[in-house]
Amino acid sequence: MGVEHWLAAAGDLLLGARCHGCWQPWWGICPRCREQLASRRPFLTKPVPCPNGFPITVTSSAYDPILRRVINAYKERQALTLTSFLADRLALSVHVLLATQARPIDASRIVLVPIPSAPRAIRERGFDATTSMARLAARRLRAQYPVTVRPALAQGRRVADQAGLRAAARRENLAGAFRLRRPITTGAAVLVDDLVTTGSSLTEAARVLRAANIPLLGAATVAATVRLQCQNPSGNAQVRDPFVHGLRTQ
Ligand SMILES: [Zn+2]
Repeated sequence: MGVEHWLAAAGDLLLGARCHGCWQPWWGICPRCREQLASRRPFLTKPVPCPNGFPITVTSSAYDPILRRVINAYKERQALTLTSFLADRLALSVHVLLATQARPIDASRIVLVPIPSAPRAIRERGFDATTSMARLAARRLRAQYPVTVRPALAQGRRVADQAGLRAAARRENLAGAFRLRRPITTGAAVLVDDLVTTGSSLTEAARVLRAANIPLLGAATVAATVRLQCQNPSGNAQVRDPFVHGLRTQ
């Protein structure tokens, strides 16, 4: 056992620190979980059944137990040290989404639009998890693209907690749930979220943006409860390298 492990074990004894991915004694994410997550390759994903109007969506990984614990720790236990890690994964998805565009993208401005959380969830958590992640992802992406973040959407009415609802119930629950609170006058939008499950949130958000004639390039998420994994048409090393490298070295 190396010094790092002794330190981690001591930390666990004193502070109860555990890896957010596997719950072994560690601070943050242990090297094993980090390595496993960093080896994941983004892919195009589509829920089954796929809602009408579901935008083209790239996710950085399947929603496996490690990522489920990491996202949960970030959102529900305010493990803000994970923002950087999750932002890297999100940046990777956005990067691949932009690389999959059939037509040359308007490089003047790419606007990341976070899927809005319920105001109550933001109050209880003490921070806006998706927007915080998006802001850091944009900073990473700015090395290559002119990216900004605009919380253009808001929840238009109170919606029930989506957890536990089936696909049809989620669609019904979310119909008309979002409204445009800030217009986007230049550039094209990319919707961003931590997780895609039934696709209801992304579909409803895409509908609102399209109704406002805002160009939409697609959506990017950290994880997907994979129903259908589509072949990634641009999964070459050149596309992925900058951020994968970043993930491994941080
Ligand atoms: Zn771990």
